[in-house]
Amino acid sequence: MTKKSLSFLKSLIEAPSPSGFEQPAQKVWRKNVGPYADRIETDMHGNCIGIKNEGGSPRVLLAGHCDELGFMVQYITDEGFLHFRTIGGFDVNIIPGRRVHVHTKNGPILGVTGKKAIHVMTDEERKKKSEIHDLWIDIGVKDKKEAESLVSVGDPVTYTVAFEKMRRDLAVSRAFDDKAGSFAVGEVLRMLSGKSFKAAVYSVSTVQEEVGLRGAHTSAYGVDPKVGIAVDVTHATDHPDMDKKRVGDIKLGAGPAISRGANINPVVERMLIQTAEEEKIPYQIEAAPRGTGTDANAIQLTRAGVATGLVSIPLRYMHTAVETLSLKDVENVTKLLTAFVLRVDDSVDFTP
Ligand SMILES: [Zn+2]
Repeated sequence: MTKKSLSFLKSLIEAPSPSGFEQPAQKVWRKNVGPYADRIETDMHGNCIGIKNEGGSPRVLLAGHCDELGFMVQYITDEGFLHFRTIGGFDVNIIPGRRVHVHTKNGPILGVTGKKAIHVMTDEERKKKSEIHDLWIDIGVKDKKEAESLVSVGDPVTYTVAFEKMRRDLAVSRAFDDKAGSFAVGEVLRMLSGKSFKAAVYSVSTVQEEVGLRGAHTSAYGVDPKVGIAVDVTHATDHPDMDKKRVGDIKLGAGPAISRGANINPVVERMLIQTAEEEKIPYQIEAAPRGTGTDANAIQLTRAGVATGLVSIPLRYMHTAVETLSLKDVENVTKLLTAFVLRVDDSVDFTP
């Protein structure tokens, strides 16, 4: 990955963007993708849409969601501790003991997620699974009055943990799900620079995926594409305690995972696979026998139906503060989508 691309990915990740509060990430996306789009706009829902070759045909939508998981302040105790709800799906057991930023109107405030220490728990309590209301955020204030002078109910919260490179081409961060996808669809516009192609390309950094695929609904309706490809992350199963019999065989570094199944248009799927083979891009196949939990689901069900594909980036430890992926896989997603766009024209019949 070039230095410039890496710095785009890093700044996208470092911009906090829990579902419903995406604009910091969208600002980064606009700044980095804008120079490569003929036109870039933000719709009424907050989706950012970079457009190339607007009058072309067919219209192809590429979607990656920029919203991440987070928390939301719900209640401030008399002592100034913050109780919170989750934004998106969490394993409550791994929330305690983390540094967080509460994003207030005057900027981020450092806090920690607290929980009763193991030493002072009763035997009963040790056996019990944590519930979200057993946890709190400690921002170091002396009472409710001081907390309220800083924080408002409804303020979003994210882990402070950001991007770091690991060995080989691996990297760790919070929120690779799915800023890696939002990044990849933005990078496609850069890769298309100076190339001639027939399709009109709409790369969308979608909002509110983690709370119900909501940005994909509105942006797909607005763009009205013939073909739509969502880029999201999928579970890599190459670590301990992952049952391949249940989840399939997906590895980090083995290339984009191309989905097959009811959520996927068979012509798009075949074209993606053929494109990968022709371009010598490694790929994996993922079985998806029903509607997926990704933007691809909302896109496919738009208007009278959209020819939909799903390309996924293998990811370990999804929805934790240590999501781990291969940067090479992310690059290969961008390459695959770019090569796909170059091959699409009106002669392709996407009717299943
Ligand atoms: Zn997710």
